Amino acid sequence: MDNCIFCKIVDGSIPSKKVYEDEMIVAFYDLEPQAPVHVLVVPKQHISCADEIDESNSSVVAHIFTKIPQIAKTLGLENGYRIVNNCGSDGCQSVKHIHFHLLGGTQLNGRMA
Ligand code: AMP
Repeated sequence: MDNCIFCKIVDGSIPSKKVYEDEMIVAFYDLEPQAPVHVLVVPKQHISCADEIDESNSSVVAHIFTKIPQIAKTLGLENGYRIVNNCGSDGCQSVKHIHFHLLGGTQLNGRMA
């Protein structure tokens, strides 16, 4: 999709520091990390937000969740991690291409909001 930062990362026109890629998804370091390890896991297909998940595209979301344990292991997150998805304005979603924050590398705050 035009003017989508994460579509541009997917097609390589914006650089990123990738930690994982396959035919459906890419994972790369967040530019402004909020934990010692902060990676974004993104479908290559443009899906705007969690509100847009339906039967036609849910397989990519399932795929993301099957790959997260593998990505977490390569990043050394043996003690656990947090997966965050922000959706819409109340959820403070700033990039309108669905993505899952994978955060870890320290004891995270117990509160989420
Ligand atoms: P959200 O607020 O949930 O939409 O998260 C968007 C995330 O994308 C933020 O944590 C940003 O720091 C991150 N971000 C924005 N642009 C880039 C970029 N070009 N490369 C890596 N991360 C980015």
